[in-house]
Amino acid sequence: MSHNIKKRFIAGAVCPRCAEMDRIVVYEQEGQQRRECVACGYSDILIIKPDQVEIPTRVTPEDKKKEDIPPQPIKFFPNPRLKKQSEKSNKTD
Ligand SMILES: [Zn+2]
Repeated sequence: MSHNIKKRFIAGAVCPRCAEMDRIVVYEQEGQQRRECVACGYSDILIIKPDQVEIPTRVTPEDKKKEDIPPQPIKFFPNPRLKKQSEKSNKTD
């Protein structure tokens, strides 16, 4: 039986045949992602393009390492303590 197939609605998806919105379900069958329109019965196989999958390269981990480095302190930023202290002393006084 096809009971075990989980079908999921894709919010905002438009059927290429009948142009109905929110009528597209996706499900997996025989190892393939398929989509189906519940309005008109249109169905096809979703082809996952290789560029949608993150391909591990030597560059990728290096890029992530760079992102992990905390940003350098900004030297030209005015000292926020002075302003806050003056504001506080104004309020408490
Ligand atoms: Zn349709």
